[in-house]
Amino acid sequence: IEAVSETGSTNADLLARLPAGALSRPVLRIADVQNAGRGRAGRPWLSAPGASLTFSLAWPFKGPLQRLAGLPLAVGVALAETVASLDVPVQLKWPNDLMKDGAKLAGILVETGTAPDGVPWAVIGCGINLAMPDDMEAAIGRAVSSAPWLARMDRNELVALLLSRLAAVLAEFDDTGFAPFRDRWNALQAWRGQPVNILDQGNVVHQGLAAGVDDAGRLLLDTSAGRVAVLSGDVSLRLA
Ligand code: ATP
Repeated sequence: IEAVSETGSTNADLLARLPAGALSRPVLRIADVQNAGRGRAGRPWLSAPGASLTFSLAWPFKGPLQRLAGLPLAVGVALAETVASLDVPVQLKWPNDLMKDGAKLAGILVETGTAPDGVPWAVIGCGINLAMPDDMEAAIGRAVSSAPWLARMDRNELVALLLSRLAAVLAEFDDTGFAPFRDRWNALQAWRGQPVNILDQGNVVHQGLAAGVDDAGRLLLDTSAGRVAVLSGDVSLRLA
């Protein structure tokens, strides 16, 4: 476990070590502040000292890399179940966000790569809003959620709880893939049965009712043309 006061992005820090063979065992890297935190497709993830918990976990897998497609959803299950066990009710927004009171409480960014010895690794970034100041919410430009109850907890204790459940989920995922997590994910799904849009670079590519995920972690959408299964890629989900 590495704790630093400030860095650009904990995901970028860990990913940079991968091609050099400098990762040999799981590493958790926590930063008080990330100056260049990122979400999917290079979108910014904003955080502030004391306002957020941001960390990344580098983890080796048996592989192959393609098996990791459902990993962000399994990570969502681990985080959501941990937070819920601390009396903070949350839901999962496909593919990679934790929602509380209808707004984003936490984001997950999974990036993958292969070490020189051929072992596939995932770098799993998590940003959880503990007490977002108003000016930061204004900078984000959309409503966000915070969890003041978690902000009052001892940070080491919170990280230990998150890490132990995450480690258990990752070990299981490596053996089984996403399928055994499907029902746990669906039980926590935000906007289930509600009309949603799937956006690709801002354009609506599918419209339908959100109907849970399948064994591979694809979102099932009931559209006027029947049921479609949407792969995550760079698509985003919004309420219609
Ligand atoms: P979307 O939320 O638009 O459907 P997404 O889930 O793929 O897309 P990510 O790439 O995971 O979004 O996260 C980046 C986006 O999250 C940013 O574009 C910004 O709107 C929002 N964001 C940035 N920082 C925070 C934060 N601390 N809390 C909540 N939302 C944030």
